[in-house]
Order: sequence, then structure tokens, then C-alpha cells
Amino acid sequence: MKKVLNYINGEWCEGSSGKFIPVTNPANGQVLAEVTQSTNDDVDRAVNAAKSAQKEWSLVPAPDRAEVLYKVANLLKERKEEIAQILTSEMGKVIDEGRGEVQEAIDMAFYMAGEGRRLFGDTIPSELRNKFAMSIRVPIGVVGIITPWNFPIAIASWKSLPALVSGNAVVWKPATETPMVAQEFVKIYEEAGLPKGLINLVNGSGSVVGSAMVDHPQIDLISFTGSNEVGKAINGRAGELLKRTSLEMGGKNAVTVLEDADLDLAVEGILWGAFGTAGQRCTATSRVIIHKDVKEELEHKLISRIKELKMGDGLDETVKVGPVINGAALERIDEYVKIGQEEGAKLLTGGQIVKGNGLENGNFYEPTIFTNVTPEMRIAKEEIFGPVVSIISVNSLEEAIEVNNSVEFGLSSAIYTANVNKAFAAMRDLDTGIVYINAGTTGAEIHLPFGGTKGTGNGHRDSGVAALDVYTEWKAVYVDYSGKLQRAQIDNY
Ligand code: NDP
Repeated sequence: MKKVLNYINGEWCEGSSGKFIPVTNPANGQVLAEVTQSTNDDVDRAVNAAKSAQKEWSLVPAPDRAEVLYKVANLLKERKEEIAQILTSEMGKVIDEGRGEVQEAIDMAFYMAGEGRRLFGDTIPSELRNKFAMSIRVPIGVVGIITPWNFPIAIASWKSLPALVSGNAVVWKPATETPMVAQEFVKIYEEAGLPKGLINLVNGSGSVVGSAMVDHPQIDLISFTGSNEVGKAINGRAGELLKRTSLEMGGKNAVTVLEDADLDLAVEGILWGAFGTAGQRCTATSRVIIHKDVKEELEHKLISRIKELKMGDGLDETVKVGPVINGAALERIDEYVKIGQEEGAKLLTGGQIVKGNGLENGNFYEPTIFTNVTPEMRIAKEEIFGPVVSIISVNSLEEAIEVNNSVEFGLSSAIYTANVNKAFAAMRDLDTGIVYINAGTTGAEIHLPFGGTKGTGNGHRDSGVAALDVYTEWKAVYVDYSGKLQRAQIDNY
């Protein structure tokens, strides 16, 4: 049986619990490998290694740090197909999406390598003569990264690459469900020549390894992507310790379709947003806000297209909808479908766990659409994280925006309209970190800031140049070359 190990101070090693747990393929229940389970001691060793490696790394000129990232980018490129296959086997998303996710990591590696020759600060005029002022970015220190299973390499790349190019060291706890891809990513860092101690992989449960990282006094920042429940708990504890956090959490994203929209285009965007990655994206489309005049027509088009979506093992190139991650997710999704029915929503299509057709050993849920949903219903407010979408009917753009903004999350939103005035008004008024015009709710590009408003996060952004604000401190530097005491605010001209 293949073993997934920890990587601490440049060595592959078992976690000190001595225990391993199986990693399974969600499409068929097959055990792919077993992953080592760590304890507080392993976290401690990883943090100590990171701490001692970081000091020297912070002195390496950023363009030289970037050279390692260029190697990472090229190795990822060479191994793209192999990693995508592993990703699909352990996480379940269809292979095209697996390839797309690895591409995201490649893009991020090239982009952040480029930052090694920028990492810009500012020069700012001093208010005094013969005095020079500037701001420079300095690393934070040891960064703890905690990632979810739904984008196991993309999210890890969004966090580890800007952290490293900025001169930090990393301790990474991947999701228990997807340790194999994490191992491949760390092997690439190793092969690229990243000095030992700068990336440390510690496998194990969130409640043991994740908590130990949050508690550890030598971890200066926790960068977390995952559920709101866990994110809030991390933030509470980190607050007590005055530790920085960058949190990206849930979404309840909506596509608005106005009466003048290209409905066929909207249907494609909705299907891709709602059922890609089996609805397990933080940016998944889980609400469709539709103008009442085109509701019936859009529903007909959705139902006829949904029948063409083949379900199955994501490694089959013809499959469009893969499994959900595990049995617990399957049950949670089914529970929400029952809640929707009890609340009075009408099931248009789907609503069942798939049994038979050779899919009985996997975790498959039918692509599901509810209609006649009202904004107060739980299925319209809570994140389901599965292939379930709710249609809500409205009378105007203003009402659509009100419904869009009525949820606790603020990650992504989309609007389909041919009216440029309405598109710009929506761009201004949709209260989400990401807005799409005439495209679905997913499709972020790595050089733009990624993250959400309200309950989705705590104001930080992954990716884009904004990510550097998470992984660096600002230092203000004043150089007085007047040769005398000059008092700011007093000795001014
Ligand atoms: P979880 O919050 O359950 O897990 C995320 C990570 O946190 C995992 O590595 C998990 O470990 C770890 N963890 C669990 N408990 C603790 C703890 N007490 N202390 C520290 N770490 C802990 O989320 P899921 O993995 O289920 O991911 C799905 C969620 O992620 C959804 O809500 C989704 O919206 C969100 N998400 C948000 C994104 C965004 O950018 N906004 C992007 C992608 C997903 P373990 O695996 O061992 O449980």
C-alpha cells in the first residue's frame, strides 16, 4: 500500500502517532493509499525547522528566491497530467477540471516568481529637508497554512507561493481527504531545490494538527481556507493569542438572469457553476435569481440540458459530473434536499442519491434544481456544498440585487443582461468580492484578488498582488542625511 508521509526539515517521515488512515477514491470507494497521522510533537518539529530556516531565507535576495519558484512552475508544467490524474482519483472532480486546477498552480508559480523582481514598496517625500522616506515589505516569519480538499493544489499554491517569495517559511496541513496531491506538490518544491525547513508538510486531523498550529507560539500567521465553522473557531483562538489570520470561507453565490439576457448563454453558465466539481466549489452557483418574465423558459432549457450531463468517475473524459467527497457529504446534501421539500420548494429535477448504473460504490448525487424558492428558505441561505441549485423569481434588477445581497456570505455573483446600464449598476451594487457580467460565478484568474465580503472572510485576499499584503509586514524607513536633529511636525519649513 502506498504511504503518504510528512515532510519535516527536508526529510520524509512518519507522524509520531504511528497511525495511518486510508485515502479513498470517492468515485468507487477504492483505497488509494494510507496517510500518516501526526501529533503536537510533529507540529513542533516542523515549526522549529521552519523557524531556523526562515532567517537565512529572508536574507536571500527576492529575485533568487524567485528562481526556485520558476523551477516549481516548470516542474508542475512537466508533471501536469500526472498530478491531475492523482487529483481526480482522490478528490473526484472531472479530469478536465483536475487539469485546470493544476494549471492554476502553474500560473500562480510563474506569477509569484515574477513578484520576486517586484515586491514593490513606495518612496515617499519626507516633510523635512535632507531626509529620505520609504516603505518596504518584510516577511512575517513562520506561516501556518490549512487547506480544504476541494482545491487541494490550487489553494495550497495561492498560499505557499506568495509566502515563500516574500521570505517566509511554511508549515502546511492539507485536508485529510486529499493528502496525495499535497505530497506531490511538496516533492516538486523539494526537486526545485527549496532549502530544507522552508516547506513542511504535517498530515493529520484538523482537531489535532490544525489546532496545534493555531496554538503554536512560533507560528506568526494562519492562512486558512475552509468552512465558516472552523474559520470562526480559528479566529477566536488566534484573537486571544494576537496571531494574524487570513480566512477564506463559504459562499452562497447567485447568478441573476434578467429579462433581456441571452438565455442559452445563461444556461451554460449556470450548469458549469452549479454542477462543476459536483457543486463543491466555494464559488459554486447555488442560487439562480430569475426575472419572472423568463423564468419558465429558462427552467425548460435547464431541464433539457441537465439530462445531457453524464455522471461517473471523473477519469472518464466523457463524464461531466463526478462524485461528492464522502458519505457524510452525500447525507448532508440529501438532508438539505429534504429540508427544501419541507419548506415548500418544488423539486424540478434530481433530488436523489444515485444507486445503480455501476455508481453504487461511489458518492454520487443527482444534479438537483429547486424552483419556487423564496429568499427566507434555508436552502436559499445556507451553503449546501453539493450539486443543488435554487431558483428564486424576482420582478426587477433592484429586487434581484436585494436577494443576492441578503445572505451572510459575499464571495461571488454573476449577472446576465444585454443592458450595459444594468450591468454597470449591478457591478456597483452586488456585495461580493467577485462579480461576473455575462459569465457564471466561477472562473477566477490567479492575477486578480480572490476572496469575499461579509461572512466569507476577514477582509484579506488570496492571489493577485493583494496576497502579498497577507504574507508581508510594512516597514517604514526614514533616512536623515542632514547631520542635525530634525523634529518631525516641529522643524518643518
Ligand atoms: P473544513 O473547515 O472542515 O476543513 C478545512 C481545513 O481545516 C482542513 O484541512 C481541515 O482538516 C482543517 N480543520 C478542521 N478542523 C480544524 C480545527 N479545529 N482547527 C484547525 N484546522 C481544522 O472545510 P472543508 O474541508 O469541508 O472545505 C469546505 C469548505 O471550504 C466550504 O465551506 C467551502 O466554501 C470552503 N472553501 C472556501 C474557499 C474560499 O476561498 N472562500 C475555497 C474552497 C473552499 P481535516 O481535513 O483534517 O478535517
